[in-house]
Amino acid sequence: MINGQKIWTSGAHYSDYGILLTRTDPTVAKHKGLTMFFLDMKSPGVEVRPIKQASGASDFNEVYFTDVRIPDSQRLGNVNDGWNVSLTTLMNERMSIGAGVATGFPELFDFCNSLMLEDGPAIENRAVRSKLASWAVKASGLKYTSMRAISALSRGERPGPENSIGKLVAGSMIQDVATYALDLQGAAGALSGPEDAEVAGKFQAMLLRAPGTRVEGGTDEIMRNIIAERVLGLPGDIRVDKDVPFNKIPTKGRA
Ligand SMILES: Cc1cc2nc3c(=O)[nH]c(=O)nc-3n(C[C@H](O)[C@H](O)[C@H](O)COP(=O)(O)OP(=O)(O)OC[C@H]3O[C@@H](n4cnc5c(N)ncnc54)[C@H](O)[C@@H]3O)c2cc1C
Repeated sequence: MINGQKIWTSGAHYSDYGILLTRTDPTVAKHKGLTMFFLDMKSPGVEVRPIKQASGASDFNEVYFTDVRIPDSQRLGNVNDGWNVSLTTLMNERMSIGAGVATGFPELFDFCNSLMLEDGPAIENRAVRSKLASWAVKASGLKYTSMRAISALSRGERPGPENSIGKLVAGSMIQDVATYALDLQGAAGALSGPEDAEVAGKFQAMLLRAPGTRVEGGTDEIMRNIIAERVLGLPGDIRVDKDVPFNKIPTKGRA
């Protein structure tokens, strides 16, 4: 019987099926007592509540589970081995975000090509060209990093921790690119919406979406830890609750 709540579930309001990580043994360390299942999103006791975002869209949801039953035939992997199963799904997720996420660079380049500043075309401005050049280098690094990941997949390899690099770099890059585009728009940058804003509000929409990219699939800080520990082989972060049974981790009075 499953009870609980999960926030930020992307696309749950469209989904027929979901995957769910449940805590099946609270008396062992937090990574150990987890089991993964897939479930029919129409199962009795599953309630999906869409979240309204700053952009006005609703892409994510809060999902509530009340006395939900999932047959054992829908278990993914062994009982209490859900953490290992979820590492596979997480590395696939990070690879797909990192390989697929827009950087905003082609849009910024086009925008600068058509924009007139007080002293002439933006594309001829030295400060603008310097910014464009450094983002061009980053965008091409990302492109080849994602091609390397796709080549590895085509050889039958599984996505590894190095796929955190694309998500980390692209997530902050699109935020910086969108901020710069709005700076170039001056006061007009404060307008949003496809009718009022410059370039149909493309950069405003990018800026509102970007923080989500830096959190979904693991935050920037977690990506940095993964890259440091599992790609570069640096010493591990201090994890004070790593071996503490889940039900003994202090919760400041919360159940
Ligand atoms: C747009 C969006 C879509 C999402 N879609 C889904 C989805 O479809 N399915 C799903 O299951 N989840 C989804 N999520 C949830 C997402 O995966 C989590 O929000 C994310 O992994 C961060 O976990 P958390 O919210 O528990 O943050 P926490 O782990 O509570 O982190 C809070 C803060 O503490 C920092 N922090 C935590 N641990 C460390 C550490 N060891 N060192 C340094 N800093 C640390 C984090 O970086 C963060 O700033 C989505 C989230 C967003 C924003």
